[in-house]
Amino acid sequence: MLERGIGLPPNYDTNAPLIETVRVSHCPVCGSDHRREYAHGFDYEIETCRNLWTFFQCTECEAVWIDPRPANGELSTIYPPTYYAYDMSEKLPAVILKGKAMLDRIKLAGITKRMEKKPTSYLDVGCGDGRYLYQFAERGMSRDRIYGMDLPSPALPKLQSDGFRVWAGRVEDCTEIEPGTIDLITMFHVIEHVEDPIAVMRKLTEWLSPGGVLALETPNTDSIDRRLFSNGWWGGLHIPRHWTLFNSKSIGRAVEKAGLEPAGIFYQTGHSFWLHSFRHGLRYNTVLPMPKLAEWFNPMKSRLPLMAITGFELLRRTLGARTSAMLVLARKPGGPPVA
Ligand SMILES: [Zn+2]
Repeated sequence: MLERGIGLPPNYDTNAPLIETVRVSHCPVCGSDHRREYAHGFDYEIETCRNLWTFFQCTECEAVWIDPRPANGELSTIYPPTYYAYDMSEKLPAVILKGKAMLDRIKLAGITKRMEKKPTSYLDVGCGDGRYLYQFAERGMSRDRIYGMDLPSPALPKLQSDGFRVWAGRVEDCTEIEPGTIDLITMFHVIEHVEDPIAVMRKLTEWLSPGGVLALETPNTDSIDRRLFSNGWWGGLHIPRHWTLFNSKSIGRAVEKAGLEPAGIFYQTGHSFWLHSFRHGLRYNTVLPMPKLAEWFNPMKSRLPLMAITGFELLRRTLGARTSAMLVLARKPGGPPVA
């Protein structure tokens, strides 16, 4: 199915292609077809195509999904080679990378602190350049018990030669992991990209050891930045690469459907969603577009706005706000009793 590209916003690449799409008429989480229109928009972030995309919200479980979505044959169009995180270290200044590494360490410590036993095996789905794999190796975990999974990229052979267990491909197709063997799986900002989130989570449940923990991070649609930019500029939509979006209710439903027990939601800083939202609003609004000022909010280039908004988000989190990035912990039943 080919959608018409209509009403392109100012400053948008008019030569971007129209891409093939497929319908998704039912909620990917609960299967309901009761829904309401939620948001519309274009690929504001990288302008890979000129389709106008629509999101719907399920009136049963509150999950949000894109319909139609890009066809699988268009993945190389919507994920151009410049997209991937593995070359992030070349794009960002050293001070920002150091700050990110510190936040990563705090995040992993927060996850392992909440586990009943110290993990002895680890898998990161969407491992990118392997930054979390190296952190577990530094903590003393044996590299042949550390797995990384991602779509094929130049970063993966390097991780393999550094002694990690690497799978280049989709979760659904992986045959390299024995069921019941992984104590901790992290999956940061992946579940919102996949075709069938429940099928992916079920596969992860199968790999977890009894009492093992899945920690996944995904955008939260119940956040003030989403409400402020509800027209489609919200960075968390990441149009058209985010296919299913959650709030605390719908992610709880998904976790239970996958055979896991919810074990808490912890809110992280949503700084990049704020920055993208501001950038999209400044660049693409029809009243007074300001493309030069907009670039000041590009998270790949900005320093001051990035630091200011990260500080603002850390403060909000301390005050108990539900930010636009949620870290969801879920446990596989059958482990030792909770102390
Ligand atoms: Zn639903």
